[in-house]
Amino acid sequence: MINMGGFVVAIDGPAGAGKTTLARGLAKRLGFDYLDTGAMYRAITLKLLRMGVIGEPTQWLDCLDGVRLEVSTDPDRFWIRLDGEDVTDRIRSKEVDRYVSQVSAEPQIREWMKRRQRELADEKRIVCEGRDMTTVVFPDAELKIYLDASLKERARRRLEQLKQLGISATMDEIIKNIRFRDRYDSTRPVAPLSKADDAIVIDNTTLSIEAEIEIAAREVMKRLGG
Ligand code: C5P
Repeated sequence: MINMGGFVVAIDGPAGAGKTTLARGLAKRLGFDYLDTGAMYRAITLKLLRMGVIGEPTQWLDCLDGVRLEVSTDPDRFWIRLDGEDVTDRIRSKEVDRYVSQVSAEPQIREWMKRRQRELADEKRIVCEGRDMTTVVFPDAELKIYLDASLKERARRRLEQLKQLGISATMDEIIKNIRFRDRYDSTRPVAPLSKADDAIVIDNTTLSIEAEIEIAAREVMKRLGG
Protein backbone atom coordinates (compact mmCIF):
# COMPACT_ATOMS: atom_id res chain seq x y z
CA MET A 1 0.00 0.00 0.00
CA ILE A 2 1.14 3.48 -0.89
CA ASN A 3 1.53 6.06 1.85
CA MET A 4 0.18 9.47 0.89
CA GLY A 5 -2.70 11.95 1.24
CA GLY A 6 -5.91 12.03 -0.78
CA PHE A 7 -5.68 10.79 -4.35
CA VAL A 8 -8.66 10.51 -6.68
CA VAL A 9 -8.73 8.30 -9.75
CA ALA A 10 -11.83 9.30 -11.74
CA ILE A 11 -13.19 6.88 -14.36
CA ASP A 12 -15.77 7.92 -16.95
CA GLY A 13 -17.19 6.08 -19.91
CA PRO A 14 -20.35 4.78 -21.56
CA ALA A 15 -22.72 2.08 -20.28
CA GLY A 16 -21.15 -1.36 -20.10
CA ALA A 17 -17.57 -0.23 -20.74
CA GLY A 18 -16.49 -2.10 -17.63
CA LYS A 19 -15.94 0.89 -15.35
CA THR A 20 -16.97 -1.08 -12.28
CA THR A 21 -14.62 -3.95 -13.03
CA LEU A 22 -11.68 -1.64 -13.65
CA ALA A 23 -12.45 0.62 -10.69
CA ARG A 24 -12.76 -2.26 -8.24
CA GLY A 25 -9.77 -4.13 -9.59
CA LEU A 26 -7.61 -1.02 -9.52
CA ALA A 27 -8.75 -0.09 -6.01
CA LYS A 28 -7.93 -3.58 -4.75
CA ARG A 29 -4.59 -3.57 -6.44
CA LEU A 30 -3.62 -0.19 -4.94
CA GLY A 31 -5.31 -0.54 -1.55
CA PHE A 32 -7.61 2.39 -2.43
CA ASP A 33 -11.29 2.88 -1.63
CA TYR A 34 -13.82 2.58 -4.42
CA LEU A 35 -16.98 4.49 -5.29
CA ASP A 36 -19.66 3.21 -7.69
CA THR A 37 -21.70 6.33 -8.42
CA GLY A 38 -23.94 4.54 -10.94
CA ALA A 39 -25.15 2.38 -8.06
CA MET A 40 -26.13 5.56 -6.19
CA TYR A 41 -28.22 6.80 -9.13
CA ARG A 42 -29.75 3.35 -9.46
CA ALA A 43 -30.73 3.20 -5.79
CA ILE A 44 -32.43 6.59 -5.99
CA THR A 45 -34.27 5.46 -9.13
CA LEU A 46 -35.45 2.39 -7.24
CA LYS A 47 -36.71 4.60 -4.45
CA LEU A 48 -38.70 6.78 -6.89
CA LEU A 49 -40.13 3.70 -8.60
CA ARG A 50 -41.24 2.31 -5.26
CA MET A 51 -42.85 5.59 -4.31
CA GLY A 52 -44.79 5.58 -7.58
CA VAL A 53 -43.50 9.00 -8.66
CA ILE A 54 -41.21 8.01 -11.52
CA GLY A 55 -43.48 9.80 -13.98
CA GLU A 56 -43.55 12.98 -11.82
CA PRO A 57 -40.11 14.61 -11.95
CA THR A 58 -41.33 17.67 -10.08
CA GLN A 59 -41.89 15.48 -7.01
CA TRP A 60 -38.54 13.72 -7.08
CA LEU A 61 -36.54 16.05 -4.89
CA ASP A 62 -39.22 16.15 -2.19
CA CYS A 63 -39.32 12.36 -2.20
CA LEU A 64 -35.59 12.24 -1.60
CA ASP A 65 -35.85 14.46 1.43
CA GLY A 66 -34.66 12.36 4.33
CA VAL A 67 -33.78 9.31 2.22
CA ARG A 68 -30.96 7.25 3.71
CA LEU A 69 -28.44 6.22 1.10
CA GLU A 70 -25.42 4.35 2.41
CA VAL A 71 -22.79 2.89 0.14
CA SER A 72 -19.73 0.79 0.80
CA THR A 73 -16.40 2.12 -0.44
CA ASP A 74 -14.65 -1.19 0.26
CA PRO A 75 -13.71 -2.78 -3.08
CA ASP A 76 -13.72 -6.23 -1.46
CA ARG A 77 -17.23 -5.96 -0.13
CA PHE A 78 -19.57 -3.77 -2.13
CA TRP A 79 -23.09 -3.09 -0.88
CA ILE A 80 -25.59 -0.30 -1.11
CA ARG A 81 -28.43 0.37 1.31
CA LEU A 82 -31.59 2.34 0.81
CA ASP A 83 -33.30 3.38 4.03
CA GLY A 84 -31.50 0.56 5.78
CA GLU A 85 -32.41 -2.13 3.23
CA ASP A 86 -29.68 -3.85 1.23
CA VAL A 87 -30.57 -3.22 -2.44
CA THR A 88 -27.24 -4.27 -3.98
CA ASP A 89 -28.89 -6.72 -6.42
CA ARG A 90 -32.25 -5.02 -6.79
CA ILE A 91 -30.75 -1.92 -8.37
CA ARG A 92 -29.69 -4.02 -11.39
CA SER A 93 -33.26 -4.78 -12.49
CA LYS A 94 -34.46 -4.01 -15.99
CA GLU A 95 -36.97 -1.56 -14.59
CA VAL A 96 -34.22 0.47 -12.93
CA ASP A 97 -32.20 0.24 -16.18
CA ARG A 98 -35.14 1.71 -18.00
CA TYR A 99 -35.53 4.83 -15.85
CA VAL A 100 -32.12 5.56 -14.37
CA SER A 101 -30.96 7.81 -17.24
CA GLN A 102 -34.03 9.99 -16.90
CA VAL A 103 -33.59 10.35 -13.16
CA SER A 104 -29.90 11.13 -13.51
CA ALA A 105 -30.58 13.81 -16.14
CA GLU A 106 -32.36 15.93 -13.53
CA PRO A 107 -30.05 18.81 -12.49
CA GLN A 108 -31.17 18.93 -8.87
CA ILE A 109 -30.66 15.20 -8.46
CA ARG A 110 -27.14 15.58 -9.83
CA GLU A 111 -26.38 18.40 -7.40
CA TRP A 112 -27.65 16.25 -4.54
CA MET A 113 -25.42 13.38 -5.67
CA LYS A 114 -22.37 15.53 -6.30
CA ARG A 115 -22.37 16.73 -2.71
CA ARG A 116 -22.61 13.18 -1.38
CA GLN A 117 -19.98 11.85 -3.74
CA ARG A 118 -17.48 14.55 -2.77
CA GLU A 119 -18.15 13.88 0.91
CA LEU A 120 -17.59 10.17 0.40
CA ALA A 121 -14.27 10.76 -1.36
CA ASP A 122 -12.99 13.49 0.94
CA GLU A 123 -9.35 12.99 1.93
CA LYS A 124 -9.42 9.39 0.68
CA ARG A 125 -7.31 7.54 -1.79
CA ILE A 126 -10.16 6.41 -3.94
CA VAL A 127 -11.18 5.20 -7.39
CA CYS A 128 -14.50 6.80 -8.41
CA GLU A 129 -16.42 5.63 -11.42
CA GLY A 130 -19.41 6.96 -13.30
CA ARG A 131 -20.37 9.43 -15.99
CA ASP A 132 -19.23 12.96 -15.13
CA MET A 133 -16.59 11.88 -12.61
CA THR A 134 -13.75 13.41 -14.63
CA THR A 135 -15.64 16.46 -15.85
CA VAL A 136 -17.91 17.62 -13.03
CA VAL A 137 -17.55 15.83 -9.71
CA PHE A 138 -13.76 15.50 -9.61
CA PRO A 139 -12.40 17.94 -12.20
CA ASP A 140 -9.14 18.06 -10.20
CA ALA A 141 -8.72 14.30 -9.93
CA GLU A 142 -5.09 13.23 -9.86
CA LEU A 143 -5.80 10.69 -12.64
CA LYS A 144 -8.66 10.72 -15.14
CA ILE A 145 -9.51 7.71 -17.27
CA TYR A 146 -12.05 7.52 -20.08
CA LEU A 147 -12.90 3.84 -20.55
CA ASP A 148 -14.49 2.63 -23.76
CA ALA A 149 -15.31 -0.58 -25.63
CA SER A 150 -17.31 -1.48 -28.75
CA LEU A 151 -21.10 -1.49 -28.47
CA LYS A 152 -21.27 -5.22 -29.20
CA GLU A 153 -18.76 -6.09 -26.50
CA ARG A 154 -20.51 -3.83 -23.99
CA ALA A 155 -23.84 -5.55 -24.72
CA ARG A 156 -22.27 -9.00 -24.41
CA ARG A 157 -20.93 -8.13 -20.95
CA ARG A 158 -24.26 -6.73 -19.81
CA LEU A 159 -26.05 -9.90 -20.98
CA GLU A 160 -23.61 -11.96 -18.95
CA GLN A 161 -24.15 -9.77 -15.87
CA LEU A 162 -27.95 -10.13 -16.14
CA LYS A 163 -27.64 -13.89 -16.61
CA GLN A 164 -25.70 -14.12 -13.37
CA LEU A 165 -28.51 -12.28 -11.62
CA GLY A 166 -31.05 -14.72 -13.11
CA ILE A 167 -32.63 -12.02 -15.32
CA SER A 168 -33.47 -13.07 -18.88
CA ALA A 169 -32.88 -10.63 -21.73
CA THR A 170 -32.05 -10.73 -25.42
CA MET A 171 -29.02 -9.22 -27.10
CA ASP A 172 -31.31 -6.97 -29.16
CA GLU A 173 -33.05 -5.67 -26.06
CA ILE A 174 -29.72 -4.91 -24.40
CA ILE A 175 -28.22 -3.18 -27.43
CA LYS A 176 -31.32 -1.02 -27.61
CA ASN A 177 -31.08 -0.09 -23.92
CA ILE A 178 -27.36 0.68 -24.13
CA ARG A 179 -27.85 2.80 -27.28
CA PHE A 180 -30.68 4.65 -25.58
CA ARG A 181 -28.62 5.29 -22.43
CA ASP A 182 -25.54 6.35 -24.44
CA ARG A 183 -27.58 8.84 -26.40
CA TYR A 184 -29.46 10.09 -23.36
CA ASP A 185 -26.31 10.38 -21.21
CA SER A 186 -24.30 12.11 -23.97
CA THR A 187 -26.88 14.65 -25.00
CA ARG A 188 -28.41 15.68 -21.68
CA PRO A 189 -27.82 19.35 -20.92
CA VAL A 190 -26.40 18.79 -17.44
CA ALA A 191 -23.15 16.86 -16.95
CA PRO A 192 -23.31 14.91 -20.21
CA LEU A 193 -21.04 11.94 -20.70
CA SER A 194 -17.91 13.35 -22.33
CA LYS A 195 -14.18 12.86 -22.25
CA ALA A 196 -12.20 15.38 -20.21
CA ASP A 197 -9.33 16.91 -22.20
CA ASP A 198 -6.75 15.63 -19.75
CA ALA A 199 -8.19 12.09 -19.43
CA ILE A 200 -6.27 9.12 -20.74
CA VAL A 201 -8.36 6.82 -22.98
CA ILE A 202 -8.36 3.06 -22.47
CA ASP A 203 -10.31 1.01 -25.03
CA ASN A 204 -10.68 -2.43 -23.50
CA THR A 205 -12.60 -4.19 -26.30
CA THR A 206 -9.78 -6.68 -26.71
CA LEU A 207 -7.90 -6.14 -23.43
CA SER A 208 -7.97 -8.56 -20.51
CA ILE A 209 -9.03 -7.21 -17.12
CA GLU A 210 -5.51 -7.74 -15.78
CA ALA A 211 -4.02 -5.80 -18.69
CA GLU A 212 -6.26 -2.79 -18.23
CA ILE A 213 -5.66 -2.73 -14.46
CA GLU A 214 -1.93 -2.85 -15.17
CA ILE A 215 -2.15 0.13 -17.55
CA ALA A 216 -4.16 2.16 -15.05
CA ALA A 217 -1.97 1.19 -12.08
CA ARG A 218 1.12 2.32 -13.99
CA GLU A 219 -0.49 5.70 -14.62
CA VAL A 220 -1.17 6.07 -10.88
CA MET A 221 2.42 5.16 -10.05
CA LYS A 222 3.73 7.65 -12.59
CA ARG A 223 1.77 10.42 -10.88
CA LEU A 224 3.00 9.34 -7.49
CA GLY A 225 6.52 9.49 -8.78
CA GLY A 226 6.93 5.73 -8.22
O1 C5P B 1 -22.80 2.82 -14.27
P1 C5P B 1 -24.25 2.38 -14.35
O2 C5P B 1 -24.60 1.75 -15.68
O3 C5P B 1 -24.69 1.57 -13.19
O4 C5P B 1 -25.06 3.75 -14.28
C1 C5P B 1 -26.44 3.77 -14.46
C2 C5P B 1 -26.90 5.11 -15.00
O5 C5P B 1 -26.70 6.13 -14.02
C3 C5P B 1 -26.17 5.61 -16.25
O6 C5P B 1 -26.75 5.12 -17.45
C4 C5P B 1 -26.32 7.12 -16.13
O7 C5P B 1 -27.55 7.51 -16.68
C5 C5P B 1 -26.37 7.35 -14.64
N1 C5P B 1 -25.12 7.86 -14.05
C6 C5P B 1 -24.86 9.21 -14.14
N2 C5P B 1 -23.75 9.73 -13.52
C7 C5P B 1 -22.91 8.94 -12.84
C8 C5P B 1 -23.15 7.56 -12.75
C9 C5P B 1 -24.27 7.04 -13.38
O8 C5P B 1 -25.62 9.94 -14.76
N3 C5P B 1 -21.86 9.49 -12.22
